[in-house]
Amino acid sequence: MSVPMRTERDPVALATALEAAEARLLSIMQTVPDAMIIIDESGRIESLSTTAERLFGYSLDEIAGKNIKQLMPAPHREQHDSYLKRYLTTGERRIIGIGRVVVGQRRDGTTFPMHLTIGELRSGNKHYFTGFIRDLTDQQVTESRLNELQSEVTHMSRFTALGEMASTLAHEINQPLTAIANYLKGCQRLLERIDGEPALVLRDAVSKAADQALRAGHIIRRLREFVARGESERRVESLPKLIEDASTLALIGAKENGIAVSFRMDPSAALVLADRIQIQQVLVNLIRNAIDIMTESSGRRELEIGTMTNADETVEVSVSDTGAGLAPEVAAHLFQPFVTTKRKGMGLGLSICRTIVEAHGGKIWVDAKPSGGTIFRFTLRTAREEMDLAE
Ligand code: ADP
Repeated sequence: MSVPMRTERDPVALATALEAAEARLLSIMQTVPDAMIIIDESGRIESLSTTAERLFGYSLDEIAGKNIKQLMPAPHREQHDSYLKRYLTTGERRIIGIGRVVVGQRRDGTTFPMHLTIGELRSGNKHYFTGFIRDLTDQQVTESRLNELQSEVTHMSRFTALGEMASTLAHEINQPLTAIANYLKGCQRLLERIDGEPALVLRDAVSKAADQALRAGHIIRRLREFVARGESERRVESLPKLIEDASTLALIGAKENGIAVSFRMDPSAALVLADRIQIQQVLVNLIRNAIDIMTESSGRRELEIGTMTNADETVEVSVSDTGAGLAPEVAAHLFQPFVTTKRKGMGLGLSICRTIVEAHGGKIWVDAKPSGGTIFRFTLRTAREEMDLAE
């Protein structure tokens, strides 16, 4: 805007120029997509953008001339005047030009997180401050949901990994226990044929050892039953939502590793009967494995997550990668525990996936892609809205 010198001497032209400047400011405040608030040096609101009106729930007419502290919750509300005074006397910048996450308060008293950047403007010997506000509500909701999900799934996977280990151990320990019990029975039979004090003591000791072997077997059986029962809670769930949540979690860092992700969702594969956390755990395991294998090689890095409805009231979920494919030494035992090619791997992920999918009445398998890479697939039972809390 150029203001000719003569306007200083010409009050009419000056007023016109001022009016034009004001109209321009008004039009900016009405159209700018950001929430913007202009205050003077005493904290009085001069102007606010339409987006700010919507965000805080006040109209410009109601709030103009009021102190900006009205848009803040305690303790800033009480202290804002002194913040301003301190800045004007010391020039010490705590937020101006820096930007910070603070809390705003709407007209109805509710508060929300916002990112505030403040710009300073001097006109003559007056100060004005312009606040640019970004509402962080959605971002924080997403972040906290993600954290929640992550801790649920991590907790669950530790629990399941423990269960899987217990089950494998139970199976492995049961065999030697049975052998011990059989040997002891043999000893008992032999000892019955021998007379004398030492034989009696021995018979007693062997019988006690046999009891203990039985007891150990019993404990192991109880453990297996507990693991087999699991804590599964199946409900009618939206499959696309399940996949969206699990992928958000599993795909953290994927983009940075150059992995292109695509979704091929069958719109008719909508509702499934599932324990949400457990199925998310399956998806997270499969997606993380796919990312791991692709980041190991320099080839194409394409991950595709898909769904498909089958004729038999099941849906098929697939996770396909363009990695190096299955190592021959693990291919035959892939879904068994402790099978891994990773230095830090436990080899429990896929066996947990199998346990979970089979507990849901589904199947899990893997196919090699002719073009390289693998596709893991699993099935789930489809559900209808009214089936809630089935089985
Ligand atoms: P872990 O990840 O701890 O090794 P898993 O049971 O999840 O345990 O995986 C077992 C093994 O299966 C891996 O070590 C890897 O060799 C192989 N594997 C899993 N997913 C893939 C995949 N998408 N492509 C190639 N190999 C895979």
